[in-house]
Amino acid sequence: MESSGGRAEGSGRGPRVLVVGSGIAGLGAAQRLCSHPAFPQLRVLEATARAGGRIRSERGFGGVVELGAHWIHGPSQGNPVFQLAAKYQLLGEKDLSEENQLVETGGHVGLPSVSYASSGVSVSRELVVEMASLFYSLIDQTREFLHVADAPVPSVGEYLKKEISERAAGWTEDEETRKLKLAILNSFFNVECCVSGTHSMDLVALAPFGEYTVLPGLDCTFPGGYQGLTNCIMASLPEDVIVFNKPVKTIHWNGSFQEALSPGERFPVLVECEDRTCFPAHHVIITVPLGFLKEHLDTFFEPPLPPQKAEAIRKIGFGTSNKIFLEFEEPFWEPDCRHIQVVWEDTSPLEDVTSGLQHVWFKKLIGFLVLPSFASVHVLCGFIAGLESEFMETLSDEEVLLSLTQVLRRVTGNAGLPAPRSVLRSCWYSAPYTRGSYSYVAVGSTGDDIDLLAQPLPKEGAKAQLQILFAGEATHRTFYSTTHGALLSGWREADRLIALQDPQAQLPGPWL
Ligand SMILES: Cc1cc2nc3c(=O)[nH]c(=O)nc-3n(C[C@H](O)[C@H](O)[C@H](O)COP(=O)(O)OP(=O)(O)OC[C@H]3O[C@@H](n4cnc5c(N)ncnc54)[C@H](O)[C@@H]3O)c2cc1C
Repeated sequence: MESSGGRAEGSGRGPRVLVVGSGIAGLGAAQRLCSHPAFPQLRVLEATARAGGRIRSERGFGGVVELGAHWIHGPSQGNPVFQLAAKYQLLGEKDLSEENQLVETGGHVGLPSVSYASSGVSVSRELVVEMASLFYSLIDQTREFLHVADAPVPSVGEYLKKEISERAAGWTEDEETRKLKLAILNSFFNVECCVSGTHSMDLVALAPFGEYTVLPGLDCTFPGGYQGLTNCIMASLPEDVIVFNKPVKTIHWNGSFQEALSPGERFPVLVECEDRTCFPAHHVIITVPLGFLKEHLDTFFEPPLPPQKAEAIRKIGFGTSNKIFLEFEEPFWEPDCRHIQVVWEDTSPLEDVTSGLQHVWFKKLIGFLVLPSFASVHVLCGFIAGLESEFMETLSDEEVLLSLTQVLRRVTGNAGLPAPRSVLRSCWYSAPYTRGSYSYVAVGSTGDDIDLLAQPLPKEGAKAQLQILFAGEATHRTFYSTTHGALLSGWREADRLIALQDPQAQLPGPWL
């Protein structure tokens, strides 16, 4: 194995620190450590050729499209991503307004502008409003089992279905309307799968569901792209801190490693990369996605993680949610349309679908957001979660475009609807250094598993302290799955190291 050369080795005092991953958690940790004089020997190892991770804005369709994170959820004073974005002047005036910051959405997705049914007719707005109100009142109820000794059923999905079937028994409308109501509710289940990043709400644990914390503020976007934020953080770091195209293969810990350039010095950790270069370190902050950790659990740590920690990694959920952008020559939607819902009339949350994914994958698509038109370009953004989303990744662009053209022709009742001009989509499940989209608390796990995942190794009290620290969205107990949870987790671990080196340091934590 070769040893690394360059920037930090042998220069300066202070511990040698490595951050693995340059998403917002890793960049946040690096920025905080760089602002303290005790850490002149810092490096960030990034597997890919770019920083930002699941924050990924690409130029496309004459503007910017977000392949990863889309909104700041809860943009208000308690949200560090909002604060940082405001500091870097990346937000619009309306998004910064007091009024916007005070809006309480309860984490619910807004009502669609129009709802199309699979038979090619628009669904009555009244029915959609009624079902949205039922669905979201039930979602609110699912958050109330946090401090209850026994949850009635294991999962959010089972709870919702039990409540819905009880209410449906009292519906007095004709058979067709009752079926349509269930189909609308099914569309809301699909929305919730996108929000939770899961295949089915049956996989999401009921008791801890209320622990996820929704901040006030009307969700907002970055006019110039979310990645402007990670670019600004990156620009604040010394130039050669991030090493790109350096996938880490194995983290050897609890050792006593040496390197030729620092004779006599011993390091408890050695980070081995796929290209066989090795980086000795005193501390390593790991920010790789949970999907990557799950896949490489057997080889990523040497010695292996303690059994409880490994079990937490296996138990916490990590699913897939993707976006499909379609560009049209001309809009077929009304000028004030913001959100198109698609309702498959033959679906119901109370029935399981068993047909092959090939023929039904597109039924998991929740519909489309209308993106603000850049120049004269008209773009819809579809959202799809779960196994159907992972299946979509195996198809070619042409196949996806063809399927969605057929869907749109069918639901609009316009067989002559021109096909979209082009398609662009995310493929987070196939991305080797992500393997999915974001985490959720799965049936069989609780918030304690998140805390367990976040615990540094070796356990406190051991002689060689804080060798491996864990950050990333999946390590934040109340803000998992978000950019602000990820950023806070990076700050949390940086502060842990700062407190070790400089017990007198004034730290702004504790972090929520
Ligand atoms: C489609 C989608 C939509 C989303 N929408 C929103 C939203 O609207 N609002 C919101 O708040 N959040 C959203 N999120 C979630 C948000 O993007 C993430 O929670 C957050 O960006 C995660 O940051 P992170 O630093 O924890 O991980 P990441 O951003 O994934 O960073 C981890 C980094 O580690 C690198 N890495 C992995 N393995 C290795 C290795 N072996 N060696 C070296 N480097 C490695 C990766 O390449 C990556 O750069 C969305 C995510 C997706 C996928």
